[in-house]
Amino acid sequence: MSSDRLIYLPLGGAGEIGMNCYVYGYGPKDKERLIIVDIGVAFPDMDGTPGVDLILADIAWLEERKTLIEAVFITHAHEDHVGAIGHLFERLGEPKVYARAFTSNIARGKLAEYGYSDKVVTTVSKWPQTVTAGPFTVGFLPISHSIPESSALVIDMPEGRVIHTGDFKIDHSPQVGEPFDPDLWADVSAGGVKALICDSTNVFNQHEGRSEASVGPAIEELVRGQKGMVVATTFASNVARVKTLAEAGERAGRSICLMGRAMRRMIEASVETGVLSDFPKVISPEDVKSMPRENVMLLVTGSQGERRAASAQLANGKYQGLTLKEGDLFLFSSKTIPGNEKGVIRIINQFSEMGVDVVDDSTGKYHVSGHANRPDIEYVQKLVKPQIVIPMHGEHRHLREMVKIAKGNRFQSILAVNGMMVNLSGNEPTVAGYVETGRTYLDGTAQVGALDGVVRDRIRMALNGHVTVTLILDDENEPLGEPWCEIMGLATTGRSRAPLVDLLEADLEQFINRASEVTLADDDKLEQALKKIVRQTALDEIGKKPEVTIVISRLSA
Ligand SMILES: [Zn+2]
Ligand SMILES: [Zn+2]
Repeated sequence: MSSDRLIYLPLGGAGEIGMNCYVYGYGPKDKERLIIVDIGVAFPDMDGTPGVDLILADIAWLEERKTLIEAVFITHAHEDHVGAIGHLFERLGEPKVYARAFTSNIARGKLAEYGYSDKVVTTVSKWPQTVTAGPFTVGFLPISHSIPESSALVIDMPEGRVIHTGDFKIDHSPQVGEPFDPDLWADVSAGGVKALICDSTNVFNQHEGRSEASVGPAIEELVRGQKGMVVATTFASNVARVKTLAEAGERAGRSICLMGRAMRRMIEASVETGVLSDFPKVISPEDVKSMPRENVMLLVTGSQGERRAASAQLANGKYQGLTLKEGDLFLFSSKTIPGNEKGVIRIINQFSEMGVDVVDDSTGKYHVSGHANRPDIEYVQKLVKPQIVIPMHGEHRHLREMVKIAKGNRFQSILAVNGMMVNLSGNEPTVAGYVETGRTYLDGTAQVGALDGVVRDRIRMALNGHVTVTLILDDENEPLGEPWCEIMGLATTGRSRAPLVDLLEADLEQFINRASEVTLADDDKLEQALKKIVRQTALDEIGKKPEVTIVISRLSA
């Protein structure tokens, strides 16, 4: 009996939707050779992470073990799976990266921003081609999702076979890319599967999922009925949907114009990698200007209300010389991701003010999800028949529900959240330990820990406002002049209608004039006292306790 063990450790994506990063290890305890599956980002919001650019998994545990890392495998090119590769590549020790062609194309673009050559990413063909990485042999098993060449990973090592589904749905006619192939999946699973690590996103949805093929006819009918310009938005990376929209528009007699950098980038990557061969001919925004509105359909970025995207700019009035007006139609062929509602509603209202009709996904006719619903999840689990089902890609409630379902179908299952290491060797999965995890913020170009206090301080300043007090003392601790204040983010006058700055300075001066020599000689004491006065005066005057910075300068003789 070997002492080697197989471990599974999610560092991101298990307990949230986003920031996917999963680790598998095989070998002697604490010396396991490691592979990383996906390395994605999550997106910040104004409430919890104001000013932050991107949220990355905390990879401190991996960084301490970078000599044990054999490779990174990327299941597909969504940002929550590939978005952090450039930002974290150096800290991981620049490991080998493997992906299929389309995903490689996107990953290379991200690594190029950090000066890495195309060679650091190796393109792998779909199963049955495999790659050996230390004790692991890994293959990319095609599965349908909402971006080209999404793949599950078939991970073999002496302990057996693990299948990591990646993001998936069951689609037999996905329009772009490979349909779900039940025979292939049954064949790959025939020899027995130790564990299925499974996407849980849509586990609460009770209906069977619908195919991408079902949305085209509905969109065509909608477009045919329009007399003005039609604008449609979806995720640029959903190449199948972009194609579905373009073809539906073309069939309804319209010329297609792609707008927004991401839209063009994704179509380019699809053509370069051969994922997309037949896409309707597109015209430029310049061409659109000289055409009757009823002959044009724009496909634009910004389905989530992103401020700088094409949709938001059109809602603001103008984008690349084009303006929408009464009688035009704007279609969201997309779902609003929780957290983005405000931005989406803002642009819907802006369009409303312009007299533009907005159609969204509320009827279910113009969008289908990229994730498997409960019946499809159960179908895949029964097809693969693993010993163990481990849910991933879900919030806690999704993971918990999936564990219940798996156990109901007589599979072993364990709820592993970020940082929980699971030992998959032996007769049943066990908790092997807990690793400290969290989030790393990309803040400008710097990486800061979520608990470092940087963003906490920023939020405090944003919520409470800020006062700076400056005081100069001579070498005998005598104040030179009075303390003076500057305020930021605070009302300038309050209850007494006198300027807040004047009131603060008067109270501080009064204190300084009466302060003992001992206090004046002690920076800490002085600082505490001045802060207290500022807070109390501000509270009395404007009802807020601001953040305070005290600057004490002492002149030496
Ligand atoms: Zn995902
Ligand atoms: Zn995805």
